[in-house]
Amino acid sequence: MARGKVVEHTREGKSFKLSRDVLDTTELEYAEEKLFHISKVFMDAVDPIFIRDLEGTVIELNRAAEQTYGWCRTELIGKSIKTIVPPDLHALAQEIHERCIQGEKLENVEAIHATKSGATVPVLLTLYPISSERGEPVGVVTTVKDLSNLKRIQEMFPSQTEALERSNKDLEEFAYIAAHELREPLIGVATYLKVLERYLTHKVDAQAYKLIARAVAAVTRMDRLIQSLLWHSSLASETKHLEPTDCNVVLEEALSTLRSALEDREATIKNEPLPTVMANPSLLVQVFQNLIGNAIKFVGDESLEIYIGASLEESEWKFFVKDNGMGIEPPYFDRIFRIFQRVDSIKDRPGTGIGLANCKKIVEHHRGRIWVESSPGKGSTFFFTIPVGTPSVT
Ligand code: ADP
Repeated sequence: MARGKVVEHTREGKSFKLSRDVLDTTELEYAEEKLFHISKVFMDAVDPIFIRDLEGTVIELNRAAEQTYGWCRTELIGKSIKTIVPPDLHALAQEIHERCIQGEKLENVEAIHATKSGATVPVLLTLYPISSERGEPVGVVTTVKDLSNLKRIQEMFPSQTEALERSNKDLEEFAYIAAHELREPLIGVATYLKVLERYLTHKVDAQAYKLIARAVAAVTRMDRLIQSLLWHSSLASETKHLEPTDCNVVLEEALSTLRSALEDREATIKNEPLPTVMANPSLLVQVFQNLIGNAIKFVGDESLEIYIGASLEESEWKFFVKDNGMGIEPPYFDRIFRIFQRVDSIKDRPGTGIGLANCKKIVEHHRGRIWVESSPGKGSTFFFTIPVGTPSVT
């Protein structure tokens, strides 16, 4: 009888043992055959696969990886996995590597890789740790989806939107100049009103004071609206810079600015793990800030609960921010995404009506969509999408 440790099962499900000195040849042949098939599946897989050790040194790659990246297998083995990562993304790659070797599995991480010739490749990665028989981590497997074709298809249709983009740009420029020019006389009016208020001290009755105070408040509000209009029209230029963006970090940043408002409301916030997408991180922070800020502002009778998550649907990530607040009537579902549009019944609550228009603009510049589903009195869920492998916008 063979001595040694149970490492494999026969086709009939019987366990067999391997030891240094005693081997059943049939069993050995079966094990070899099985190993051959497994390595063939690995080498012939359609998508690139890399195996690296704990230090991040490549120890194996398949033929698809050789083809996509232009490196020979023997050239890349022994090199750092960062060889296929552009230098500005090394820190992010290191962070992901460390998370993996601590046991985390990362799915559908959007990233940029570099080929041997220096060309960049948009990719979607799945990374998971591999461990020894004793359960100790020994390395990381990376499977890669090359998104270049998807990106090329997306770029084949720019002309449909080009004219619209141009006219939007013209309108934005007009809004920016008009808003800029309007602010100067407005600030003048506010200053004169304040001087008038001081000048009239003890000379007019309480009613006249009240009227002046109202005029000051109206001018201040108008200035706030003009400032938000300026901000709205300057948003477009910032969206050019897209990079692999960890949405968990984005959410954390958005929540940190809303912390005290959330504490005041004793809000419960829950979120699913969010993906890494190609986006502009600071603009994405604004989207989360606006949506969560609105959930706080339009709280209902229940104590506030906010739930945030994302799922991969075909070629796009679908994010959601769900609240149990006052909800929105269906006739407003589209209108609230237009600039300065608010639900009539909430006009006493603070706001300028521009937050969702900003979100829409940001999301659309990432080639995504935004919409709301809501039941009045029960809550609202805002959805927005970011396409996988978002092409850079002009
Ligand atoms: P603002 O919040 O400054 O009013 P927004 O553009 O962010 O402007 O929102 C437009 C309107 O949409 C709000 O005035 C409100 O009526 C409605 N709204 C937005 N988010 C919510 C929400 N989570 N729950 C209920 N109503 C909302």
